[in-house]
Amino acid sequence: MVDGPYWVEFRGLVLPRPVGGHPALDFVNTLAGWDDEPVGSEYLKSYAHLAAFAEQAGLLDSASVAALRRRATSRPRDGEEILVQALALRSRLRAVLLEPTDQRNLATFSRLLRPALAQLHLVPGDQPRWDVGGGLERPLSAVAWAGAQALTTLDLSAVHACPGHECGWVFFDPRGRRRWCSMRSCGNRAKVAAHAERHRVDQPA
Ligand SMILES: [Zn+2]
Repeated sequence: MVDGPYWVEFRGLVLPRPVGGHPALDFVNTLAGWDDEPVGSEYLKSYAHLAAFAEQAGLLDSASVAALRRRATSRPRDGEEILVQALALRSRLRAVLLEPTDQRNLATFSRLLRPALAQLHLVPGDQPRWDVGGGLERPLSAVAWAGAQALTTLDLSAVHACPGHECGWVFFDPRGRRRWCSMRSCGNRAKVAAHAERHRVDQPA
């Protein structure tokens, strides 16, 4: 399989290219075409995709993700349910990242976080660290925690949505220089379209 401008192969699965600048933003970008009806391109096609994404984003280690994927094959319904919760969390996360002052969205997101973060605990050490704990819920908790951290630590005025056709990916752009999710994908498509448009204009009637 050859990687595309929007996606990469990871652990045998197709996942979106990480361009968001934060794991929570890349989680949002596991759907493309946010403004499309009825729905855009879904990358999280299964529990395995969700788990692999958590590994790709650096939220979970490869050994635990491999174990989770093995375990999920014998509990497909549980995996499916966790995936559904992750997708609900994802759309609220995008909404609050782009409009953090919207109280209703924030309250809904907050409510969705609670069960996902129920297993969150500190692991002792010289420098104690967070662990999301849990069984099959681990990848859901990991993306929920990443989302909560992004909301409370990122400068949200620097989070933008790509205006590209069938895109809507979000990205962190503190320097305010980016218009597209990436120049390699939407930026390039816009360039090609502009080029074609110029040629049309230049053609003698
Ligand atoms: Zn884009």
